[in-house]
Amino acid sequence: MVARLLRRSTAALASRSANYNRNFTTQTQPLRAADKKAPDSKSFAVNMFRGTTVTDQVFPFAEVLTAEQRETLEMLVDPTDKFFQEQNDPLKNDEICDVPKETMDGLKAMGAFGLQVPTELGGLGLSNSQYARLVEVVGCHDLAVGIVLGAHQSIGFKGILLAGNPEQKKKYLPDVASGKNIAAFALTEPGSGSDAASVRTRAELSPDGSHYILNGNKLWISNGGFAEIFTVFAQTPFKDEKTGVTKDKMSAFIVERAFGGVTHSKPESKMGIKASNTAEVYFDNTKIPKENLLGGYGEGFKVAMNILNNGRFGMGAALSGTMRASIAKATDFAVNRTQFGRKINTFGAIQEKLAIMAIKHYVCESIAYSVAGNMDRGFQDFQIEAAISKIFASEAAWFVTDEAIQIMGGMGFMKETGLEKVLRDIRIFRIFEGTNDILRLFIALTGMQYAGAHLRELQKAMKSPGTNLGLVFSEASKRLFKSAGAGSSSKALVPFVHPSMSDQAALCSQAVEEFGQAVEQALIKYRKSIMDEQFVLNRIADAAIDTYAMAAVLSRASRSIEKKLPSAEHEARMARVWCNQAYDRVKVNLGQTRGEKNLQNYKDMSTIAGEICEKGGVAHVGPLGL
Ligand SMILES: Cc1cc2nc3c(=O)[nH]c(=O)nc-3n(C[C@H](O)[C@H](O)[C@H](O)COP(=O)(O)OP(=O)(O)OC[C@H]3O[C@@H](n4cnc5c(N)ncnc54)[C@H](O)[C@@H]3O)c2cc1C
Repeated sequence: MVARLLRRSTAALASRSANYNRNFTTQTQPLRAADKKAPDSKSFAVNMFRGTTVTDQVFPFAEVLTAEQRETLEMLVDPTDKFFQEQNDPLKNDEICDVPKETMDGLKAMGAFGLQVPTELGGLGLSNSQYARLVEVVGCHDLAVGIVLGAHQSIGFKGILLAGNPEQKKKYLPDVASGKNIAAFALTEPGSGSDAASVRTRAELSPDGSHYILNGNKLWISNGGFAEIFTVFAQTPFKDEKTGVTKDKMSAFIVERAFGGVTHSKPESKMGIKASNTAEVYFDNTKIPKENLLGGYGEGFKVAMNILNNGRFGMGAALSGTMRASIAKATDFAVNRTQFGRKINTFGAIQEKLAIMAIKHYVCESIAYSVAGNMDRGFQDFQIEAAISKIFASEAAWFVTDEAIQIMGGMGFMKETGLEKVLRDIRIFRIFEGTNDILRLFIALTGMQYAGAHLRELQKAMKSPGTNLGLVFSEASKRLFKSAGAGSSSKALVPFVHPSMSDQAALCSQAVEEFGQAVEQALIKYRKSIMDEQFVLNRIADAAIDTYAMAAVLSRASRSIEKKLPSAEHEARMARVWCNQAYDRVKVNLGQTRGEKNLQNYKDMSTIAGEICEKGGVAHVGPLGL
């Protein structure tokens, strides 16, 4: 019976999932479900989908800086902070919708345009963790300047660092590292946003085979108005050697403005990050030398996803800096403002706000540095964690800054306080580099694909249990254990966590186990149609985010206690509150993946949305009927 259910649930999911994910700005290479043997991952988040705790990437909290790296960082952090405090005026930049030349020149002189370019090619050669710490400083002061720097190096020329050949690196990296040439990442088009694989910009090989000819429009390109170097994604004709059929496949190219035929629109007028330049970029018969193909021919989608996956932790770090600054402003106000004869920080309502703001900041920082640290340690399977980092950071930063404004009352609403600008700036982070909605689907589907592959393997093993005794036996005992009602007694993480957080470690272990069960039930119930169950997938993603975040903070707070950091007790307190509250949310979210009432709600919401779309807005009649 179990075998039949598993067979039905997982067989078809595999192939469809691969396509769906491809269109979701994802990189699923390591998790391809079509592989015969189910893939093995060291990712904590991926393994949560099987209800398994794999601790390698989370416990102990990553300690990655060498003494030399720490020293370099120490030399960089304070001067960068001082530069932003003394020489950059974020409100002025916002007003003039530009970053003044002196600021740009100052940043170039500090090496801020080539943070991760190897030193032998003119950059500072920073690791991901070092980079994270510096962008945190930038995020603390001015997110718009952060976008100019990030569009340049986190995505603009990152493809050359990740996929470029030695000649390309030698030719392009020194001038982008110095800031002589600014770079941009050109993927989005008027008809192609979240569905990144659907770009229409084309590159065709010239008749003599010496160069590609590029034609198309790219929309909302950060730095697009002044970049000299573009990483451009375009369709190229690709012949499948097996079938002989030619289809379009995306390729990536390094395009210089100097190649000709490159123009741009005037800068977009935006809600926030106004000092950053966002423009449409047009390519009209632009000649790209053949050697400027980046990555393999037809490999452009993979290059794009690699760039985005590699850069997401940076957003987490930058927004940690932003939150730190917002919390400082709100705290300063709260301890000085008197109402009803008391300082407002003595009221429980304000205390709850401050505590939750700090806890969210702690979670955000822990995740961002955990991802950066794992990347520095050479782990390759960090995509789900990186997506969690981006989602969590962008939503937490919005929440924290909004609450900071609330704590400051009318003063928070005033321009001079600086928070309204920050709130406007933060809004874009939930939209670009993969909307949070798409990333939630990516998290849920990538994880379920992995769990599905393992279920399929088990189903196969059960066909010939004699030759697969080990696997069948271990799975059977696991299931028996759960069906006997013992499923929620897992304490797998307790030994990894400081005893003062044992209860929370047990909650996190339980969350992982219950999460795995909910995923399995959903796979069995929906089989391949799980792809279309976005109401369910969103709840699975939210439970995944909370559960992973529990593990990240437990790990960090345990390390702080072990190292006797001055804030260790404070951190443990925050970790306990976070885990207690997150576990409750996980229960609710997992509960909402099933149950007649919930499923009926989803059907009703789908119908309500249909009625709204039909009416072109709200479909209900006003209370007065006119
Ligand atoms: C200021 C700014 C700077 C930018 N910089 C760059 C840059 O430097 N380079 C670059 O290439 N791009 C850039 N972009 C583009 C940005 O990455 C895209 O806006 C983003 O990827 C979303 O695409 P879209 O706006 O077309 O939204 P759409 O894809 O049209 O999505 C609209 C809404 O529908 C949702 N949605 C779409 N598909 C699905 C689905 N299958 N299921 C459920 N929901 C779905 C989305 O989540 C979103 O809420 C920038 C955009 C802005 C605003």
